[in-house]
Amino acid sequence: MLLEHPMTGAVPITFIEPRRHPMHAHKTPAHDSYGRRIDYLRVSLTDRCNMRCVYCMPTVGVQFLPRPELLSNDELILVLRAAAAAGFRKIRLTGGEPTLRHEIVDLVRAIKAIPGIEHIAMTTNALRLRHLAVPLKEAGLDRVNVSIDSLDPQKFRQMTRGGSLDDVWAGVRAADEVGMRPIKLNAVVVRGMNDDEVVRLAALTTQYPWEFRFIEVMPLTGVAGLAEEGVISSAELVARITAHFGPLEPYGQDPSDPARRYRIPGAPGKLGFISAVTDPFCATCNRMRLTAEGRMHLCLLRDDELDLRAAVRSGAGQDEIEQLIRNAVSLKPWGHGLPEGVLPTLRGMSQIGG
Ligand code: SAM
Ligand code: SF4
Repeated sequence: MLLEHPMTGAVPITFIEPRRHPMHAHKTPAHDSYGRRIDYLRVSLTDRCNMRCVYCMPTVGVQFLPRPELLSNDELILVLRAAAAAGFRKIRLTGGEPTLRHEIVDLVRAIKAIPGIEHIAMTTNALRLRHLAVPLKEAGLDRVNVSIDSLDPQKFRQMTRGGSLDDVWAGVRAADEVGMRPIKLNAVVVRGMNDDEVVRLAALTTQYPWEFRFIEVMPLTGVAGLAEEGVISSAELVARITAHFGPLEPYGQDPSDPARRYRIPGAPGKLGFISAVTDPFCATCNRMRLTAEGRMHLCLLRDDELDLRAAVRSGAGQDEIEQLIRNAVSLKPWGHGLPEGVLPTLRGMSQIGG
């Protein structure tokens, strides 16, 4: 059965019929009301960070959660067990900066041991990865995505308001050495800041077997003004890179990957373009987010949330939490409302995790 895009009717998606036997119905992987299978959970471990990237956090006015507000490790594991029972298979740890989370290595080990979880990745600024790559790999972390917006140490320091590019490279090397491959690097491209480096950044893929992903600035709370002026479309980036290297080859598109992937002909690495603003990929969205204080955040660019922490702290068991998670999945909106001018107002990116 096909469902239509509720606004345009133009984007059909496949609806997978749930199995009808009541015992099996309970254990059917969660699908949202548009028929999308939702099996990827991005978990924010903290809202704190050791950088202050210009497109993510404002310099003043950010209120951090007091530690008791965060899900404890035991509470988080309970929620993730319930998520796995609801059909979530892939976990990405994010933040704020996930490597700042207390006992991060033990936490990764405990998540890896949850039946049903097949893959754990992390999005990190890599400042602490030099020392953590070996223990994280041993604990079961499969891969990392590292944010790196500039190859110029001075500009990198400016864009991240204090980050050390040397430390980031040391982290990337450490992750590569322990085999967390393929390494994916992310750059948020901001007009007038780092857009002049796009060709240089793309050229890394001609030397290394990495995937370099360019992300359009999204208008989250605290940086919406910058997004208005700074957004530079993926189409423009592709044009600039093409002008330098010649036509790019489309490369093995995974429908649930938001990145449109290409390769510079002959390059060992790949390029990815994430165009949430100018070319949304909502029709194939397979993900939800869990905030550090235990709210299911249903769409990155909308405010809708469902609180799990209250249930956990009032003694709910795994089955009850699983039902809440399934409920959250069923309430997932079709997509974001940027084209209609609906902006998220509740949280900044550092409070959701990207
Ligand atoms: N601290 C980690 C890092 O920077 O990789 C993880 C958290 S960060 C919020 C997750 C991702 O969100 C990063 O790739 C970052 O570049 C991206 N990001 C932050 N603010 C953004 C914005 N306004 N628009 C698009 N991407 C953004
Ligand atoms: Fe921190 Fe990541 Fe946000 Fe930069 S993008 S301020 S590293 S959370």
